[in-house]
Amino acid sequence: MPYKTLTDLKNALEQKSISSRELMTQALTRIETLNPKLNAFISVNAEMAFKAADKADQLRAQKNHAELPPLLGLPIAHKDLFCTDGIKTSCGSKMLDNFIAPYDATVVRKCAEAGLISLGKTNMDEFAMGSSTENSYYGPTRNPWNTDYVPGGSSGGSAAAVAAGLVPVSTGSDTGGSIRQPAALCGITGLKPSYGRISRYGMVAFASSLDQGGPFARSAEDIAWLMNAMAGFDPRDSTSLDVPVPDYTADLEKSIQGLRIGLPKEYFNHSLAPSMQKIIDEALKTLEKLGAQLVEISLPHSDLAISSYYVIAPAECSSNLSRYDGVRFGYRCENPQDLNDLYSRSRGEGFGAEVKRRILIGTYVLSAGYYDAYYLQAQKVRHLIKDDFDQAFRKVDVIAAPSTPTPAFKIGEKAADPVTMYQCDIYTLALNLAGLPGLSMPVGFIEGLPVGLQLMGNYLEESRILNMAHQYQKNTDWHLQHPKDL
Ligand code: GLN
Repeated sequence: MPYKTLTDLKNALEQKSISSRELMTQALTRIETLNPKLNAFISVNAEMAFKAADKADQLRAQKNHAELPPLLGLPIAHKDLFCTDGIKTSCGSKMLDNFIAPYDATVVRKCAEAGLISLGKTNMDEFAMGSSTENSYYGPTRNPWNTDYVPGGSSGGSAAAVAAGLVPVSTGSDTGGSIRQPAALCGITGLKPSYGRISRYGMVAFASSLDQGGPFARSAEDIAWLMNAMAGFDPRDSTSLDVPVPDYTADLEKSIQGLRIGLPKEYFNHSLAPSMQKIIDEALKTLEKLGAQLVEISLPHSDLAISSYYVIAPAECSSNLSRYDGVRFGYRCENPQDLNDLYSRSRGEGFGAEVKRRILIGTYVLSAGYYDAYYLQAQKVRHLIKDDFDQAFRKVDVIAAPSTPTPAFKIGEKAADPVTMYQCDIYTLALNLAGLPGLSMPVGFIEGLPVGLQLMGNYLEESRILNMAHQYQKNTDWHLQHPKDL
């Protein structure tokens, strides 16, 4: 059972060849065995999961499946930045190590309404800042394909949990690549939806104009099921989009004959290792065989994405994280001398090094003397990047690119050098700046480590990239591979 897709497990439940309780037992046993090695979960809620599973089994016994929630009784895990009523939401930080939210994030609520049962909360870089899950207060998560390597980040726990077969699906958040990059490094499928498609209510904020929740799964088809559960307008999130939600499974079987795939020349240049290029080329050839047409395009401002993002994201984070003051919730230092001491020691002791670095950069670029030179400039560049995509999508239907410049790197390899770490995001950041959807799926291996292909779509065109990914996966089996020696 561990490496079955959500769709397979859904069928098994519907055919009554397995019960939800049995599924939970298997998943929780596997988590118990493998989590000490992988550190994918921060907390596990077995008792609540069993209760929900028994309820699901009862419901299934009473009704036929057309009347039941579509994903009834199936397991999921949530990234530990989605607030969960009564269960700790740490965001990977000492600051929130004692924080128990009094409500569920909309994503959590919607998943539960679709019938999914949460087994626990997954590890992540502190406040979602990082590309390796090494910045967690709870220690690094390990890559299931080779435990000396990082799983990517910041949603590394969620990606590793699916890759290791602990759960069939999980949630993540993507501010600059944190769904697509760990999906690529762990050999699974992950989707960053269009900005506004999924509610951010109850998702701990990092950079509010970039943050977007989304799903991880073993296949594009499973992602479509999760999008059906998660997407939609939420009056509690003022940036959530009030437009109808399509059935994301409806277009999966469409032919991709005649679809035009843009290949940005700025993404396929000397900085991409030949071994990566070869695998990406093969994946593109497969898509071509399925009828897609490859077209060279240009996204001329691509090389400015890192500098623009690493001004805007810290600026927004410095503002969002000002709420952690040691007064209202979260960590509070011992015996504060006065109010200033309370603020500075609570924050000094509660936040880790990367979070402090971002807050410092953010307050600097927003300060009166530097606002125009850095923040305003970065916003102008953001516009140019968005315009590049607008131009490109006049000529093509989907844009393809590598998800990452290299496969997973070793734990510790980049930890001491933040700029090298930031460069891991070179192929993912632009999409967040433009607010567009993007998916990463596995398309090969280099020395036993997975490689991801990224498919980017125009605004709200998730269905189109899911269609293309599904057609690719129907004709290949990279997404069905799993680690052998766990
Ligand atoms: N790696 C990027 C960062 O550290 C993106 C993180 C994310 O998407 N949450 O900011």
